[in-house]
Amino acid sequence: SSYQKVLEENRNLYNQIQDLKGTIRVYCRVRPFLQGQSNGECTVDYIGENGDMMIVNPLKQGKDSRRVFSFNKVFGTTITQEQIYGDTQPLVRSVLDGYNVCIFAYGQTGSGKTYTMSGPDLTNEETWGVNYRALRDLFDISKERTNAIKYEVYVQMIEIYNEQVRDLFTLDIRNNSQLNGLNVPDAFIVPVTCTQDVLDLMRIGQKNRAVGATALNVRSSRSHSVLTVHVRGVEVVSNSILRGCLHLVDLAGSERVDKSEAVGERLKEAQYINRSLSALGDVISALAQKSPHIPYRNSKLTQVLQDSLGYKNGNNGRMGTTLEMPLNHRKEELFHLIACPNMETLVPP
Ligand code: ADP
Repeated sequence: SSYQKVLEENRNLYNQIQDLKGTIRVYCRVRPFLQGQSNGECTVDYIGENGDMMIVNPLKQGKDSRRVFSFNKVFGTTITQEQIYGDTQPLVRSVLDGYNVCIFAYGQTGSGKTYTMSGPDLTNEETWGVNYRALRDLFDISKERTNAIKYEVYVQMIEIYNEQVRDLFTLDIRNNSQLNGLNVPDAFIVPVTCTQDVLDLMRIGQKNRAVGATALNVRSSRSHSVLTVHVRGVEVVSNSILRGCLHLVDLAGSERVDKSEAVGERLKEAQYINRSLSALGDVISALAQKSPHIPYRNSKLTQVLQDSLGYKNGNNGRMGTTLEMPLNHRKEELFHLIACPNMETLVPP
């Protein structure tokens, strides 16, 4: 009965999340306590017939402060990287059918976003996160289908910091006037044919991310990073073209920065992050309520992801401009890249 009571109290939240189930799926992963961490301030019970709810029990404040949360699924501390990816796999597959998909990691700094999206050790495939598993699948499936559809895969990597979009492959901030207010296709786009290509590029991206940062760990948790995978397929029989894209987003830490403590740069960063995360929340709420107006233009993040967030996302495998523009726009660079045997040379000295 106390569970019923908690449920009742959380009815609003529960209903909101039920509404989101469908086009938008929300999963929760609970990180284990790290070495040297004490057993924290709360315990978690996993409930619900489908493993889709949890109760958070704060240890200090007594039973009444328990709260129930509902998700599409809750993953406990013993879940592996492979199991986490399992539920996402069909979505990734749909990119090859011409749909646009967006996967976010949301949470406060230290909650395991980067661990889940990238993984702790790139040299060990077992530990790979969603990003690499998704790309590996894209390559595997496109190979399986090669008699029916010939696929090309391209990646882009950008960072949004204080509402400035930065291309992580070229370190190009000069282009910002173009990037600002426009879509991801303005950033450098690189053709890839295997996961090793992607690993190499991600390394460049990570390195470039560090270049502009005073302290990497601080910076990476204060900016959103977006890895976008564009897929273009040509059907062998009909010659018709399909396009899909996958955005893999490691969001900036969602923690509230204490107003009294944050000053100068920190305060500015915090304000930008709060604003863009709430702009993302507004877009998702508007989509859930099927509102006629979706406020995409309120932040760079939602503008960049616009083509992957709406219900009409994807192009039914036929239309869409996702890849057309960069191909025309950046042809010379593309050729340069294809001819460039060592991608490291992309990084300016
Ligand atoms: P965030 O990106 O949200 O700031 P990180 O991914 O950097 O957080 O994770 C913080 C720390 O916790 C890292 O040391 C990471 O290796 C560890 N960690 C995160 N998730 C897990 C997990 N599921 N299992 C084991 N360690 C984890």
